[in-house]
Amino acid sequence: MKPKAAHPAPTDALQRKSVKPVVCYPTDTLPRPNISAYQALRGDLELIETVVIPPREARTWEVPAGHFCRMLCTEGPQVGDLNLFNLHDLSERFYSGKTRALNGTHVGVGDQLFSSFPYLRPIATITYDTLDWYGFDEFGGSVHDVIGTRCDPYTHNLLSHGGQYHHCCHSNLTRALAQKTGLTLPEAEPHVHDVLNVFMCTGFTRDTGQYFMKASPVRPGDYLEFFAEIDLLGCMSACPGGDCSSEHSSDTAACYPMIVEIYRPREAPAGWKSPAVNGYDRSHGA
Ligand SMILES: [Zn+2]
Repeated sequence: MKPKAAHPAPTDALQRKSVKPVVCYPTDTLPRPNISAYQALRGDLELIETVVIPPREARTWEVPAGHFCRMLCTEGPQVGDLNLFNLHDLSERFYSGKTRALNGTHVGVGDQLFSSFPYLRPIATITYDTLDWYGFDEFGGSVHDVIGTRCDPYTHNLLSHGGQYHHCCHSNLTRALAQKTGLTLPEAEPHVHDVLNVFMCTGFTRDTGQYFMKASPVRPGDYLEFFAEIDLLGCMSACPGGDCSSEHSSDTAACYPMIVEIYRPREAPAGWKSPAVNGYDRSHGA
């Protein structure tokens, strides 16, 4: 339990609390992709690779720049924890925090996933989402969040007073990345980063601001699709939480495989260019 406030509210507390919020990064200054140019290609895509992610495991795949990638729900409701890297440089990776600051807590069609400093450029653009009907529910929950981190054995150990569990998304991603790159597990682990929670339904409780999850509304056949802005290495874990209706970090939840499909379009989107790395000169005022 958190302690109660130790200080009485000042006389103008109501006035101070009633100040209207200002959106930190108004989306009218954020360059937005021409989403209709991407979507115009969706009718003529060639499937070039299919990857099956077993439950409580992770797998990697490559998406060349200019290709589409679909992450599908197959046999039952299942959440996926997604990491993305520049295929040629693991130090450029998906930056969940800045993607959240720029797009909001949950991402959908037209949103772009940004990479880490000093690159900070869009590396993927979300082009299709069969769960776009969900919006926000009465609890403030929505799907595909960039607020959670990934389930991990360290938090599990902390909260369970010493428990050891080896199939948290963090460990699954670490094993899969090590296998793909030839790095050892200790070398691969620091590259694993905060995820895009594909299909996961989450929010913050209105009264206490706590991170919550609830059963994902995803059903077999649903998918989330993105366009690769640069050559990408994807890595996704089929979370041991299954649909994340109850708990993580155990083998009790029902878990299902997930499928990833890579598609090649017939041509590039009209006017599209793979984005350059960020233009800041990195002199930091020195
Ligand atoms: Zn997980």
